[in-house]
Amino acid sequence: MERRGLLRLGGLIALVGVLVLAGAGMPAAAQAPGDEPLARFAPAMLPEFAGDLAAHAHAPHYTIDMALALTPTQAAIDGYQRVRYTNRAPDALDEIVFRLYPNLESYGGKMFVSHVTVDGRTVTPHLDPTGTVLRVPLPGPLAPGAAATLALDYELTVWEGRVRLYAQFSYLDGVLALPNAYPVLSVYEPGDGWWDVTDHAQGDAVYSETAFYEVTITAPEDLVFATSGIEIAQHAGAAGTLVHEYIAPLVRDFAIFASTHYVTLSGEQDGTTIRISYDPARVNAEFNAFVALRVTQEAVKLFNATFGAYPFAELDVVQTPTRAGGVEYPGLFVVGDRLWDENGDNFLFVIVHETAHQWWYSLVGNDQTLDPWMDEALAQFATALFIRDLEGEASFEAAMETYLAQYTRFLALAANLDRPIGLPASAYDATSYYYLVYQKGPLFFGALADAYGLEAVLAALRDYFAAYRYRIAEPADMLASFEQSLGADLDDVFAEWVGAFPVG
Ligand SMILES: [Zn+2]
Repeated sequence: MERRGLLRLGGLIALVGVLVLAGAGMPAAAQAPGDEPLARFAPAMLPEFAGDLAAHAHAPHYTIDMALALTPTQAAIDGYQRVRYTNRAPDALDEIVFRLYPNLESYGGKMFVSHVTVDGRTVTPHLDPTGTVLRVPLPGPLAPGAAATLALDYELTVWEGRVRLYAQFSYLDGVLALPNAYPVLSVYEPGDGWWDVTDHAQGDAVYSETAFYEVTITAPEDLVFATSGIEIAQHAGAAGTLVHEYIAPLVRDFAIFASTHYVTLSGEQDGTTIRISYDPARVNAEFNAFVALRVTQEAVKLFNATFGAYPFAELDVVQTPTRAGGVEYPGLFVVGDRLWDENGDNFLFVIVHETAHQWWYSLVGNDQTLDPWMDEALAQFATALFIRDLEGEASFEAAMETYLAQYTRFLALAANLDRPIGLPASAYDATSYYYLVYQKGPLFFGALADAYGLEAVLAALRDYFAAYRYRIAEPADMLASFEQSLGADLDDVFAEWVGAFPVG
C-alpha cells in the first residue's frame, strides 16, 4: 500500500513544539540463562533475530507479577518482582541498585518497596532521601560472572489528575501512563559505580540496560493495554479481572499504557506488527489513526534500510494526554493527543522522531540525563532523512536549513548563548535545551555529512548501530566508531560541537 499523498511534510520542521521524549528504560528478566530456554522469548523477535537472544543471555532477567486496581481517584499496583542479575562488570559488587522513578517529583507517584531478598535471604535495603535510589546490599561480594536472584514486593500509587512535567507518568483523562512502574535496575559503570542521578527537570529521566522481561498484569477486564513487547496469553481472573501475560526481550524498560477506551488499528512493516492504540471518540479518530499507522510504517521502512533492522515483532504507537509532543519507550512510543487531533505537520514530525528513537535510545542506549544529545540529535537528523526520502535532496537541505534558522534565531536572543550540544540535560535551561540539543544537535551530523559525504555518514551510522545495538554507547564510543568508519580523526570536530568529554 502506498499512500504517500497523505504526507505533507514540507516545512514540518519549523515547529515550535517541545518534543521531549521521556525515557524508557528498564530491563527485565526472569530466570538464569541456561535454566530455562530463552526460546520462549522468540515470539517477540523477528525470526531472523532470534539468535540475538542467546548472544545476550546474561542480560538481567525480570519476572514481574502485578495486580492493578483502579478507583476514580487513583490507580494502585501491588507488585512482586524477581530479577536474575549476572555481574558482567570486571569488579566484584557489594550492592545492586534499583531506581524508583515514580518517586521523582517529575513523576508524582509513590512507590514503596518491602521485603527484599537476595538468593532467598532477607536483606535491608537503603533508600536515599529522594526516594528514588534503592541500594540493596548483597550478603557477600558478587564476583564478575556470578549471578544473584533478587526478589522484592512493591506498591505503587498514581493519582488521577496529577500532572508533573510532561505527565509522562500519570492517570489522566482515563489513560494510565505507567512507564517504569516497577523497581528498575540502575546501570553499574566500572570506575564510576552505580548510576544515581536524581535531578530530573527536563528531558528523559531513565538510564537502564537491556534486559529480558516476563510480566503478568491482572487488571479490570475492561482495560485495554498497550505495552512494550508482546502479549502471549490472557485469561479470566477473579472478580471481573483479566490476566495478561507479556514477554519483552532485549529492551531497556517495560512500558505500560492502558485505557478503557482504546481501540487498536494494526498494520505491518518488514515483518513487524505496528499497533496504533487510540480513542475512537476523538476528532477524526479513525483517519488520524490511519495516518499515524502509515507514517510509522514509512519511517520504520526507511530506518530499517538506513540504520539497520528493527528486530522486534511489534511496535506500539499510543495516543495519550502527555504534555510532551511524544515520548519514546522500548517497542512503544506515545504521541500527545493535542498534536494527534490536529493531524498537522507536527503530528507527522513527532511520529517520525519517536520512531527514530527505537534505533537511537531504545536499541542503542545512552545515558539520557548525561548525554541527551546522543539520541535526540540523531532522532532529529533522522527526521530530516525521512523528509529526504519522501521529497528529495532539496527538501533534506531545506529541513537542515530550518534547524539552522532555529538555532540562529536562538543565538540572536542574547549574547553568548552558544554552548556545546553535549552537556547534561541539567546544564541547560528549558529554552537552550530545546534549541541547542534539538536544533543545533542535528547540524552536527549535517556538518559531518558536509565534510565526508552524506552516504559515508549514513554508513558510519549503520556501523555504529551494528556495534552498539542492545548496548549502551557513550560519546567516546560514537567518536571511535565514526573515526573507524570514516577513516578520519574526528577529535576536533567532536570537541567543537559536542564539547569536552573523556576520551579513553
Ligand atoms: Zn526525542
